[in-house]
Amino acid sequence: MAALSSRDPALVPYQPKLAPTATEAGKPLLAWRLRATSKDAVRVYLNANIHAGEVEGKEAAQVIMREFLQGLHPAARQHLDLVICPAYNADGTDALDPAIRKYQPNPESGVGRRENARGLDLNRDLMKAQAANTKWFLAMLQDFDPAVVFDLHTTNGSYHGFHLTYAPSLALGADPALLAFNRQLLNEVRDGLKTQGLPTYDYGNFRPENLKPGETPKGWETFDYRPRYLSNYPGLQDRLAILSEAYVHRSFPERIADTRAFVLACLDWIAGHRNEVRRVTGEARRHWLEGWPSRTPSLPLAADFERTESYQFEVVQPLKNIDGRVTGEASRAAFELPSFVTWAPAEFVPVPKGYLIDAAYAFKVRPVLEAHGIQVLNGSARPKAPLSFFHEADRNLASQAFQGIFGLTLKGAWTPAELPRPMAPHWTPEDLDRALYVPLEQPLGRVAFYLLDPRSPDGLVFWGFFHECLVRSDGAWGEPLRFPLVAVGAASGAAGPGPRPPAKKAE
Ligand SMILES: [Zn+2]
Repeated sequence: MAALSSRDPALVPYQPKLAPTATEAGKPLLAWRLRATSKDAVRVYLNANIHAGEVEGKEAAQVIMREFLQGLHPAARQHLDLVICPAYNADGTDALDPAIRKYQPNPESGVGRRENARGLDLNRDLMKAQAANTKWFLAMLQDFDPAVVFDLHTTNGSYHGFHLTYAPSLALGADPALLAFNRQLLNEVRDGLKTQGLPTYDYGNFRPENLKPGETPKGWETFDYRPRYLSNYPGLQDRLAILSEAYVHRSFPERIADTRAFVLACLDWIAGHRNEVRRVTGEARRHWLEGWPSRTPSLPLAADFERTESYQFEVVQPLKNIDGRVTGEASRAAFELPSFVTWAPAEFVPVPKGYLIDAAYAFKVRPVLEAHGIQVLNGSARPKAPLSFFHEADRNLASQAFQGIFGLTLKGAWTPAELPRPMAPHWTPEDLDRALYVPLEQPLGRVAFYLLDPRSPDGLVFWGFFHECLVRSDGAWGEPLRFPLVAVGAASGAAGPGPRPPAKKAE
């Protein structure tokens, strides 16, 4: 990238304002910007190597930049303003080891590590934003303000006939018209690539997941809707997103070529539909903000798989060597199967005007909210509206840590009365004034809801930000403390069955 940049001054290093410039381990976070040649541009961000063992996106992104500078893609060059980060997981990228992902045909030097130097999977960190890389990405969204975000990966091992699989943002609670448009983009790119001999489809696995030889699959299903994934999160910010997953069993050069062809097809589509891209993303933002304060929106706490369509799939029975690397095919069979690659949102609850957060937690909650770009006020600035208090109906504390955290899933409802706890400290007017106040009537109100509602499957309660208060140790003295969040304005809604985070894993 530096060599390209030195040959053409149009390609310049890019660093978002107020963002970390390096990982916690000291590896620089490097990105470049290539401005469109027209004023009529759509901004697009290309992310690669978030899982640093999945390396072909890093190569394909650089090939594409070189070809842009060579003048090979004039329409996209003219209408797209690009920022590219080829080695997002900078720690993992340099930790090359031929022992990693041996089932994947790799360059001789080996490939890098999935996690960062702290052991975090950066593609699960978007909500809690623990890693410097995530803070960099969130700052980039505010600073560069892309309409479209790409994230480039490799699959982990299912055997199907597609050279590449993809996904739009699946984010729970994102604007429905935006999600439908995101899917339309990818459907049209899929149909175009099929005529060029590049079979692609929504990222997923067969039902059941581990097919026995000769077993007939019952369907094909995608991964889940939580915004912790880098390719889901942009939907909550009214942006389009594209997950690209090259097929792990193709050769390294083939995977680079497939990823290049797929990304270029998407870029061409975006350039050709730039007015629609601007309209749909702009309308999503306006849909959220219109009508307040007389109308407050509802948002879903869960979603169910829905049958999307019927499609042609191929089940491949591979021949493998001792490393699990595919050396050929024993058989290949075609099936027409139902695909479950869209989610029907469920368990809608009315959102409050905003949330108050106990001042005792401001030191760690304010930085993560502000990293997301959410406006945080003082409690004294809250509107005059009735308060609601969270009544917990049920809970599940994970028995295994994930990303170093034992996740806490709460069920319950907001009600007008505080729980009768004679010995617990009650909220005084001074406590309410000293709290943080986060209004949901703000451009990133959807993100704020999913960070702050205690029933959110991916919020700060789940990720342990309030564990010292909400997860009591054996022998703790007295009554539990008051709940650290208060809703301002009507926020009723049944306790319901509670959020159902799906078990399906993304790669
Ligand atoms: Zn991955």
